[in-house]
Amino acid sequence: MRRTSAAELIGRKRDGGELSAEDLQWLVAGFLDGTVSEGQTAAWLMAGVIRGFSDVEVRALTSVLVASGETLDLSALSGPTVDKHSTGGVADGTTLLVAPLLAAVGMRLVKLSGRGLGHTGGTLDKLESIPGFRTALEPDEMLRIAEEVGCVVAAQTQRLVPADKALYALRDVTATVASPALIASSVMSKKLAAGAETIVLDVKTGDGAFMATREEAETLARLCVGIGADAGRPTVALVTAMDQPLGTGVGNALEVAEAVRLLSSPPKGRLAGVALALARAAYERGMAVAGGALQDRRSELLQAWSDGLALETLARMIAAQGGDAAVCETPERVLEQAPVVLEATALQGGTVARVPARAIGELAGALGAGRSRPGDAVDPAVGIELTVEVGQEIEAGALLARVHARSDDDARQAAGRLRDLIELVAGPVAAPDTVLERIGA
Ligand code: URA
Repeated sequence: MRRTSAAELIGRKRDGGELSAEDLQWLVAGFLDGTVSEGQTAAWLMAGVIRGFSDVEVRALTSVLVASGETLDLSALSGPTVDKHSTGGVADGTTLLVAPLLAAVGMRLVKLSGRGLGHTGGTLDKLESIPGFRTALEPDEMLRIAEEVGCVVAAQTQRLVPADKALYALRDVTATVASPALIASSVMSKKLAAGAETIVLDVKTGDGAFMATREEAETLARLCVGIGADAGRPTVALVTAMDQPLGTGVGNALEVAEAVRLLSSPPKGRLAGVALALARAAYERGMAVAGGALQDRRSELLQAWSDGLALETLARMIAAQGGDAAVCETPERVLEQAPVVLEATALQGGTVARVPARAIGELAGALGAGRSRPGDAVDPAVGIELTVEVGQEIEAGALLARVHARSDDDARQAAGRLRDLIELVAGPVAAPDTVLERIGA
């Protein structure tokens, strides 16, 4: 018979104590079956966010989350298996580039993705802007598509890591997301359950990331890399900048169109740069795990991108998941277009000093591209198409962005807000680095 109670465990955490693996198992199981209330679970999470979780707790919580559901067995797939995850950002369409690129060079990627929440976008919402695209797949279908095409991007199911799904929904509405320990256990439980041999993480830092400071991002990256290593899954984390939106499109269909455009010519720009760095890390590590020969991986990946093989693979994945693959030829014909497109121009000249990711993500959300509560519908067509980035010099009257909106009113308001948000200064501003650091494996 168990003698602890939820109140006792919450009190221990409130006072800075450590919970055992057994305590955590009991709390999470109780939350799932209703014997520990939402209020009690939220109190425990908040106490942990404020007091911190020990490394032992993070690892134990990860194991508890993984054990709450099934795990995928990828051993029957015929190539080295890799998985990639981003901690969330704005205009972060890297999965749309990395997944087909890795598949094009013979890797196998089964990716469980999420939906946009708050100011961040979600890969599932982006892909669902392609007519017909299905993200609710059963494990058998995921494995079949991964084998036939090389990559598949699907939603987390009720059967895989259900405890993370439930806890994440509660964290989202109780201001308990931004904890390195909770994010590490949430991300790594999904990665371990999804079964890939190699894991590559994109840990975002900056104004538009959950981890605003570089130090917090490094802590999160090290925690994830440690959890992966303990589980025998080599994990590499790139810490990347999320102070300004990564790509130019902020909105679901706009981001799909951007990915198609990028894959249609040799890689160029910050989004392509981060995607290539992630793909390179995954490829090198994946080949090493699989015992492959060492050769110049960079040129192989560049070739698969530049000669159109990655775009072709994206089209095959879209078709295999029920979507209209013609989006890879004429995205503007296949994707829904917003009825109003308004240009926002600069009132004065100068150098772009700030394009704040969080506020721009929120603005796209307010246009309808995002959701403020889980379950809200998103508008696939609306969003912001940025035409400037930090470090760029522009003249008065230059185009800052195009607003894609449902109404003239929305468009006018968003254009005005963009003019306020994009900061211009006199004199030069250095273009910031995007890939800041590599941690692990
Ligand atoms: N992404 C996740 O999967 N989990 C978190 O907790 C935060 C971002």
